Amino acid sequence: MPCRMAPATRTLEELLAAHDGLLLDAYGVLVDGSGALPEARPLIHELHRRATPYAIVTNDASRSPATYVKRFAEMGLAIPEARIITSGSLLPGYFKARQLGGARTIVLGTEDSYQHVIEGGGVPVALAAGVEIDAVAICDDAGTSFLSGMEIALSAILRALEAGRRPALVLANPDLVYPKGKGELGFTAGAMALLIERALARLSHGESLTFDRLGKPEPHLFVRAKQVLAVTNPVMVGDQLETDVAGALAAGVSVALYRGISRWHAGSAITPTYLLEKLAL
Ligand SMILES: [Mg+2]
Repeated sequence: MPCRMAPATRTLEELLAAHDGLLLDAYGVLVDGSGALPEARPLIHELHRRATPYAIVTNDASRSPATYVKRFAEMGLAIPEARIITSGSLLPGYFKARQLGGARTIVLGTEDSYQHVIEGGGVPVALAAGVEIDAVAICDDAGTSFLSGMEIALSAILRALEAGRRPALVLANPDLVYPKGKGELGFTAGAMALLIERALARLSHGESLTFDRLGKPEPHLFVRAKQVLAVTNPVMVGDQLETDVAGALAAGVSVALYRGISRWHAGSAITPTYLLEKLAL
């Protein structure tokens, strides 16, 4: 039943007094397409000064944590690698847990996405017609050719099924679209997976084949963040109800909706624990 009581508006200071760690979304909270948002630099500086346990929790699977360190540094944000948890960084654990060592894998994504698969023991294959596979990992719209990459993946999955093998299908970043620029949207990994899933539903004679999802709104990133920070009761700050808020709640983590893409209203299907207007400390 939807909650009709408005969540309490809290300051960041109040949230930190009530929780033992802080999880931060990247896009829409710390950065946007043009760089660091105004509150980001003073916030990161203050979190380090206070030695507050914090981590960045992002669905991006196109950049590794190491690449993010450099990118954040260029924006004046000194954030150590251990504090950056991307959906792509869950791929090695996924491959290991599924015992996919040696799995011939179609990777749709960037060079960093390929590295995550290799780290898990997967063996990326060349995107070529007729390729034989054991797994498909969809990470990002960038890096590989969007349409031909998906056509090769769809065809390879169907060939594997016809040969009696069921390939592992994993989607690191479930986001459907991303802000490309002012008023412009681009399709990304989640939309690619949906397209393949719909085609498979039509073509695989009723066999239900869907991608295992790693990023928000799944709970995995939050579970990892709690482990990394060794905290039990952190608070997440994010700007989207469907990913940040739903994912945190699924993981049993309190979450503040920061003014951004989503606005909570009475009757919203997803209700955050708190509302947050400013990131200032
Ligand atoms: Mg965001």
